[in-house]
Parts: sequence; C-alpha cells; structure tokens
Amino acid sequence: MIEFDDVSKTYPNGARAIEKLSLTAQTGKLTVLVGPSGCGKTTSLRMVNRLIRPSSGTIRLNGDDAARLDETELRRRVGYVIQHVGLFPHRTVEHNVAVTARLTGKPRRQAVEVARELLERVGLGSEFFRRYPWQLSGGQQQRVGVARALAAESEFMLMDEPFSAVDPVVRSQLQDEFLRLQREFGKTIVMVTHDVDEALRLGDRIAVFREGGHIAQFDTPEVLLTAPKDDFVATFLGSERGYRSLAFRSGVRVRPAPVPTVTLDERSGPSGPASDEWRLAVGGSGRPIGWLPPFEPVERERLLPCGATAGPDASLRDLLNAALSSPSSAGLVLDDDGGVAGVVPIDAVLPEIAAGTRATSPNEGAPC
Ligand code: ADP
Ligand code: MG
Repeated sequence: MIEFDDVSKTYPNGARAIEKLSLTAQTGKLTVLVGPSGCGKTTSLRMVNRLIRPSSGTIRLNGDDAARLDETELRRRVGYVIQHVGLFPHRTVEHNVAVTARLTGKPRRQAVEVARELLERVGLGSEFFRRYPWQLSGGQQQRVGVARALAAESEFMLMDEPFSAVDPVVRSQLQDEFLRLQREFGKTIVMVTHDVDEALRLGDRIAVFREGGHIAQFDTPEVLLTAPKDDFVATFLGSERGYRSLAFRSGVRVRPAPVPTVTLDERSGPSGPASDEWRLAVGGSGRPIGWLPPFEPVERERLLPCGATAGPDASLRDLLNAALSSPSSAGLVLDDDGGVAGVVPIDAVLPEIAAGTRATSPNEGAPC
C-alpha cells in the first residue's frame, strides 16, 4: 500500500499545494485522486516517486519511507504513466516497451518477447511492433505507455490523467481495457484525473480533492454518490448523481425475458410471417443485428439499430440505458459470448429501480 502521512508541500514561490494530506491507497486497488484543476493532485502523485519532495510528512511504500529509498529502487518499484506518454521517438514500439522490461534484469531477447506479449494484451497486434511512435494514434500511444508501465513489473503504478488526451470514444475503450487488465494484474495504483466519470468508473476508492490540497471525502464511488459529505462533493459529482448511482445497483433481479427472433436470408429475400410484435433479427452466429418493427416484412432495410446492450452482470443503469436506447423499449441483454440472453422491457426495470429507492432512501435529513 501507499500511505501519505501528514504530508504537506509548499512550493518555493509560496504556493501551498498540499496541506496535511493523510491517505492510504490499498494494495491491489485503484485509488483515484479527483478534483478541480490546481487542487494538488499532480503534486501528491509526484511526491510518491520523489519527482517532487514533500515539505513535511512521510510517504510510505509498503512500509518503506519513500524519502530513504535508493533512487534506482524507487524507479523500479514505482511505474509512472503520464498524459503524453513520453515514448522514445527513435525507437520502435516494441523497443519502447522492452526497454523497461530490461530494467527488471531480463536479457534482450526475453525482454522483446515480454514486450510483444504485453502489447498484444493492450490491444496492439504484431503489425504495430515495428512501428515508430509517430505512426500511431494518440490512443495507441497511450496503450504503449500502459504496456511499458506493466513491463516494469513494478509493485506500484502512478497514472496522471492517462486517458485525457484521447477522444471520448477511444477513452472509453481504453478505460474498459484498463479495467480488464487491472482485474487480471491487481496492481496498487494511484490515478489522477479531473474527469468525474472516469473516477467513478475506474476507482475502487476515490479521494475528492478541494482547493489547497485538502481531501473533501475519501470513499467508494457508491458512497460518494449516495452519501456525499457536503455541498462541495455533491456539486463536484454533478447533477446526475442519482442516475449515476444506479451503476452500483445490480440488475440481477430483473430477469431477461425471451424475445421473438427472425433470421435474414439475403438470397431468398423476405421470409417469415408478418407479426404484430417487435422481433429481433439475428445473424448466423446468433448475434443480434437489429430490431424489426411490428408488421414489417423480414428485410434488412427495415431493421432499426439495436441500441445499447447490457451484459450478464449488468447494473440497473446498464439495463435502463439498454431499454431507453432500444427502439422496441426492451433492452437487449447479451451473454458472455455475445449471443442473445433475452430482453428487459422498460416496465420491468423501472419497478426494480423504484423498489430500491424506497428501501434505501428514507425521507430524512436536510431539506432540498
Ligand atoms: P492539479 O494536478 O490538481 O491540477 P497541481 O498539483 O499541479 O494541481 O498544482 C497544485 C498547486 O500548486 C497549484 O496552485 C499550482 O499552481 C501550484 N504548483 C504546481 N507546481 C508548481 C511549481 N513547480 N511551482 C510553483 N507552484 C506550483
Ligand atoms: Mg495535474
């Protein structure tokens, strides 16, 4: 774990970036520091690997005082990923990753093998191995940065706004893949972001910072959303707090219902009887390809897009989103293999939401 014990930082110009910060980032968990710009997040992070020296207080890495660790050991134990990944421009992608693998003492050949394996893990196949950083998109470069940090096999990983330089769609994909990797590797990570959605999506625990490097609240995403300590936290988490909190309520009690399906046979044209129901068109492999409105002939041109789909472990937010974005008002639930598990109509989701709301929010406390 990483412990901040009464840590303060005042810059030489008198700027008080951090005051008396005490915080523990648990082993194997992802701790997020989130807050408005200038509130001391980057300063806190960079004090862990001593790129910035604290003015007072102690930071411990699994019990070892970071101030006393040998520089090389500190670099080896603490990986660092930043917004602009800082790849070596004249080295190929695989060598950028292999360089850090070599720091762990691996011989050259083995370091390259490890680099290739990790690149594949972060979604960069063999066609990328020999490219140079400038031949990659921003999102791909960021993946290389993550692979490089993993190659160091460090106990701890510090990430400063790692995904904020890429566009929203790529960012969302990177976050998903990063979560998958984190489930597998279980690193002790401290990540800085100013993006509330990113914090709520990735963090096991989130420290909400306010001006002057004070922690306004340090809790799980669920507690932050349902029980913000004060107006600052509530406002920072945004007006969609109620809706977002559905992401932490399981949809397991809303069982998917069977859905009538049709298959399209492109060679024979329209097939199957007309129906007064919405039907789901599925491809040869059983994967959904679109919704067919009632009374329409079975033709590809008649299909409407499926909308958002929900997975087997969907939250109530996922199910609500699937239902609201489906033209049939029934959210599509997929199984682990991408096949159709069934549908969840909006009127099956809403009572479940209402039931939990009544159970968990007694009408007490401060007036609105
Ligand atoms: P954040 O990452 O939350 O945006 P920072 O940790 O970068 O915030 O900055 C915290 C405060 O410290 C800000 O007021 C910033 O202006 C100040 N600061 C950061 N770096 C320096 C520096 N090198 N010298 C002087 N002041 C700094
Ligand atoms: Mg910063």
